[in-house]
Amino acid sequence: MTLVSLKEILEPAREQKYAVGNFNVLSIQMIKAVIDAAEEEKSPVILAFGDAHSDRISFDIIFPLMVKIAKKAKVPVTVHLDHGKSFSSVISALRYGASGIMYDGSSLSYEKNVQNTREICKIAHALGISVEAEIGHVAMEEGNPDGDAQIEDDLIYTNPEEAVSFIEETHVDALAISIGTAHGICLEKPKLDFDLLQEINRLSEVPLVLHGGSGVSDNDFKKAIKNGISKINFFSRTSNAVAEAVKQKLNNINGEVYYQDIDPVVYKTYKENVKEKIRVFGSNNMIF
Ligand SMILES: [Zn+2]
Repeated sequence: MTLVSLKEILEPAREQKYAVGNFNVLSIQMIKAVIDAAEEEKSPVILAFGDAHSDRISFDIIFPLMVKIAKKAKVPVTVHLDHGKSFSSVISALRYGASGIMYDGSSLSYEKNVQNTREICKIAHALGISVEAEIGHVAMEEGNPDGDAQIEDDLIYTNPEEAVSFIEETHVDALAISIGTAHGICLEKPKLDFDLLQEINRLSEVPLVLHGGSGVSDNDFKKAIKNGISKINFFSRTSNAVAEAVKQKLNNINGEVYYQDIDPVVYKTYKENVKEKIRVFGSNNMIF
């Protein structure tokens, strides 16, 4: 019974200066890969399903499945909705057992983002569930794995004063900020604004979240964690690694290929990639 809320999983991370990885899943193999990786590394973990992928598996199937597997884990797990864009998807994730919600109103006006986030916090908090929201805008939409678009064209840096008033007005439990990263795999390397991160962290009462981790170097991750990041969303690069491994496996088979040849490659590659990131984020050996 180790399903925990987002607030519970992030508080020790903020205190002890490590980050908990948020890993998205699209299948049962990927769920098992994330949980087994976390258990082997003795690390807390956030198992997430994105609103962007809801056309593949419906919430009433994937959330209860994630919850069931999470409850059997030997490490703390938060089952999280990633980038909930609508009121109905947030309510649906709550209904089917999510213990963390990310409501993403970052493309709305500040006022509308506050209004919606506050309403969602009120409902989720009544159920003992915590909420992450986003202020500023991390470039590119979640779910678009690649692109040669310019990061700067879609990036809105988080304003520190606005972040403070947003937290006060909404009572949000964790805040995704925009300091130079982009979703997906971009040709352009992101440049992180560490001075801005330090300033937001100095003022923020809640743990800070970094999205768009795929182009970020391990050194920059460590620097970001040292300067206040407690949760990191990492998906596109590992998704790419899994697909490359499947491609290689299929190329190496002479003759007939079968679906059951693919699943173990997905599991093994995702697990190894998640384990590697857990060690970079410093959340390994935090659970005894
Ligand atoms: Zn994101």
